[in-house]
Amino acid sequence: MAELDRQIRIIDRDKNIRVFLARTTHLVEEARLRHETSATATAALGRVMTAAVMMASDLKGGEDSLTIRVKGDGPAGTIIATADTWGGVRGFIANPAADLPEAARGKLAVGQLVGKHGSLEVVKDLGLKQPFSGRIELVSGEIAEDLAQYFFVSEQVPTLVALGVLITTDLSVQAAGGLIVQAMPGANDKVLKIIEENILRLGTISNLMDSHPALEEIAPLIMKGIEYEIVAEDDFGFRCKCSRDKLLQILQGLSPEEKRDLQQEENIEIICNFCRQRYLYKPEELDREIN
Ligand SMILES: [Zn+2]
Repeated sequence: MAELDRQIRIIDRDKNIRVFLARTTHLVEEARLRHETSATATAALGRVMTAAVMMASDLKGGEDSLTIRVKGDGPAGTIIATADTWGGVRGFIANPAADLPEAARGKLAVGQLVGKHGSLEVVKDLGLKQPFSGRIELVSGEIAEDLAQYFFVSEQVPTLVALGVLITTDLSVQAAGGLIVQAMPGANDKVLKIIEENILRLGTISNLMDSHPALEEIAPLIMKGIEYEIVAEDDFGFRCKCSRDKLLQILQGLSPEEKRDLQQEENIEIICNFCRQRYLYKPEELDREIN
């Protein structure tokens, strides 16, 4: 039985690289259940959410948050994941039922579902007037490659990214996780080469997560030949920031005509895009707000 979802952060002794290693099996399974995603959509959304969790752990302030928005030309439509520094993460996929046949035996067609053309944008809300944002053209729609491109182009950091979701025959998530390896300024090329070779030898990240019940067993495989230290540990889980009041505010923002239409209903139902939570309102609740 594998451990619960968690993340560890690793730095080598001479500070050439830093590594984020996360297990996200339960998180991705919860996203699947909430959004009723197809196998390929689970993998696409799961990869984006896994990346968001790892990247948000690098934010400093308590109220900071990080959003990854992937807009490809494939059948999945837009995919969004937002994570905060407290380990809360939520996700959205425009067409959760969209699916495609496997790209190869045992390989879900995530790149085709997302689309090879489009953009990946990262927005870091750091509590400043203007959030930081960087945007790149998609490389493959497989998400990991696209993120590596984002890090290189928008943040000028050479980065290796691996993201994976393993789906069982009943469509549930068997294992999910991610790995981000970043070169620090002035990093020794030798160390980068060793770690790159280690990772290539290890196979997919989802299989690694599946076959090793603890991240501490995977770390020495990735860091083989390099002295290192685990410098941080983080927990996280699916958490949405929606509330009855927040969604009522959205109803208040509708046009007078739209509100009048809604008020013909006995109950007004609104469902949060990010967590699929249903909220019910009485027509008079809108009235109170209008007057
Ligand atoms: Zn919600």
